[in-house]
Amino acid sequence: MDKYSILKKYFGYPSFRKGQELLIDSILNGRDVLGVMPTGAGKSICYQVPALLLPGITLVVSPLISLMKDQVQALNQAGVHAAYINSSLSESQISKALRLAAAGQYKIIYVAPERLEAYGFLQFALQADISMLTVDEAHCISQWGQDFRPSYLKIVQFIRQLDRRPVVSAFTATATSRVIEDIVCVLGLQEPQTLVAGFDRKNLYFAVETPKKKDRYVLDYIQAHADESGIIYCATRKNVDDLYEKLQAYGVAAARYHAGLGNEERRQSQEDFIYDKSPVMVATNAFGMGIDKSNVRYVIHYNMPQSMENYYQEAGRAGRDGERAECILLYSAQDIMINRFLLENKEPGDGQKFEEASGLRQRDEERLRTMSYYCMTSGCLRAYILRYFGETGMERCENCFNCSQEFDEQDVTDAAEKIIDGILEVRQRYGVNVIAGMLAGEGRAKLREYGVCTCQAYGSLKGMREAEIKALINQMLADGLLSATNDKYGILKVPRDAKRMLYEGHRVLWKKRKGASQPPNASDSPNSGSSKQRKSDILNSKGLELFERLRSLRTEIAKEENMPPYIIFSDRTLVDMCVKAPLEKEEMMQVSGVGEHKYARYGERFLQGIREYTNGVREKYYFGGPDGAVRGKKADFYLTPDQADRFPYAQKYLVTEIAEKLNSLRDADTTKKISGAELFRRMQAKGYASEIMSDGIHKKVVTQKGQAAGLFIGMRLSKKGTEYEDIYYNEDAQRMIVGYYSRAMSFT
Ligand code: ADP
Repeated sequence: MDKYSILKKYFGYPSFRKGQELLIDSILNGRDVLGVMPTGAGKSICYQVPALLLPGITLVVSPLISLMKDQVQALNQAGVHAAYINSSLSESQISKALRLAAAGQYKIIYVAPERLEAYGFLQFALQADISMLTVDEAHCISQWGQDFRPSYLKIVQFIRQLDRRPVVSAFTATATSRVIEDIVCVLGLQEPQTLVAGFDRKNLYFAVETPKKKDRYVLDYIQAHADESGIIYCATRKNVDDLYEKLQAYGVAAARYHAGLGNEERRQSQEDFIYDKSPVMVATNAFGMGIDKSNVRYVIHYNMPQSMENYYQEAGRAGRDGERAECILLYSAQDIMINRFLLENKEPGDGQKFEEASGLRQRDEERLRTMSYYCMTSGCLRAYILRYFGETGMERCENCFNCSQEFDEQDVTDAAEKIIDGILEVRQRYGVNVIAGMLAGEGRAKLREYGVCTCQAYGSLKGMREAEIKALINQMLADGLLSATNDKYGILKVPRDAKRMLYEGHRVLWKKRKGASQPPNASDSPNSGSSKQRKSDILNSKGLELFERLRSLRTEIAKEENMPPYIIFSDRTLVDMCVKAPLEKEEMMQVSGVGEHKYARYGERFLQGIREYTNGVREKYYFGGPDGAVRGKKADFYLTPDQADRFPYAQKYLVTEIAEKLNSLRDADTTKKISGAELFRRMQAKGYASEIMSDGIHKKVVTQKGQAAGLFIGMRLSKKGTEYEDIYYNEDAQRMIVGYYSRAMSFT
């Protein structure tokens, strides 16, 4: 088998995504790899496909028990023999797993890093044929990452002990260059093929909102998105408990998660969420790593997180299945204070030296500041995120709250110059409160105490309100026209280039949301902004009905098998099923995400569901038109009953003529063409015709079944004028074919 057959057979996908192939080929050629790809990009396939092609075992080091369980469950569902070995198993279970592993039962084994040191495991590893060692969540090896795990350092030692060094592949979604350097260096990767994939998650919609009442906003949002699964992240345990109780009081099936709850309650909450029993999870950032739930449709941050890294990682738990999902941050000025409090009360790490601690504090302050600029910018939110992760070039994404807003643009260059002059005049010694107060000409005692009331700049922006000046300063910080020190004082500084930029005629434009007095605007509508659609939005009302049916069927199976629904089939696969509306096995196998093993387990039940819904008469279950074609893929060839009625039957046609007539009747914007060759293959597959070699040339012959159905051999003239045999289809045979593609009857 080759990599393509593996992808189709086990995972049900027709093709690899960008980048996956590069890493897979490198691994198969024995080269180490490092894949830096955002969540949902499809890292697992990059090591799971080669694992199935390599001769020996692949060990996957993974930091969390839940992550391993999920992956192994999904692999077993796909028909791959995989297991995990970690502390959730008893000693006897571990010995059994190792025995089976030694006997070659598993191609892929997930282990916690601590396991690599365990005597029993090492004994096994020294005997076993280990082809590859994969390090998942590889940023855990770096002290610069947020999730440093000292036990990850043991991986290198483990590799050294093996007789033969396996290929080492490492994957992470954390892209900062420091972390990447650490991974390569500490793990000892040998000239790794590195792939840093784009960080853009196109299916995610970003918004920053400043509702007056956050609870109300969340409740309305959840109610407007009932049936959908989402996570609400709060800054503190208390926030979680309060919101959780409110949601419960309103009858929302929510679960909660934070470090203050007992193990059992946390385990139960997580499970309820994963199994869709509680579609909403209210949690602190303790929740989420290792949560592979692919159908999270929204992530709301009730408070501003501490850094863009945190934000993108947490928000990125939405839409792992590639379907549209929303990431909404509810911002209020208080959030900065809460975060500062949390930072100040952070325990220093074990054995951390004072200098190290203060260096880290500075880094945290800087991160917090960048995060707050995200909440205040009036520019494209996606562009802001991507710039932060080092990707430049995007100006507007047209798929975030800011891009969907109308702004009044105002030239505030003069005011910006006055701000800069004021900061320079007081010799860059004060933070935003003093500077804004001074420029607005406020008479506060503090200002008098600092002596800024006698400055030339005092009151130079008297026409603006202090809050407006602060907002403009924030925008200048976000745009790099000002900077601030990385401490709790946030002293404003004027970067060297700023003054020059202004002298060179750089204009400062202040974009205010229409009708707003200061950005960002308060908005209480949870549904605002969302202009782009979900994949399931390509389904028309009948399609949605079918989708719901298939979803209930999935829930039913999930309950029977005690399995998270998304492991059975993803939402995306269900949508594709509605678009293709398969009525027999061959067609079902064309649905993205339906591999052989999954078909064998569930295919017939889903086919049955579709047959019942459609009554065997295939209709169009999605919106047509060029728009639909852009958003969704074209459906495989079929005709509506109306179109089929217009088929120009004749005494005899060649298969290519039938294909041509069929194609001219279809809706070309939404439906793929069918070729004569494809039609003939189907006739062959169903036993109406076959091809034989005779005197060194291919010859088509009609079977007995074919003759009965109206296929016959006739003579044709080639371009050169010689006669040869071909198959013709009489009117009965034509009706059979048209009937198949419109009413989806089978050829029997
Ligand atoms: P990551 O680990 O990078 O966050 P996953 O490995 O969980 O991402 O993959 C995200 C989703 O994309 C999964 O549902 C996975 O099955 C799907 N996927 C991965 N590769 C492909 C592919 N080549 N074609 C279609 N879907 C894919």
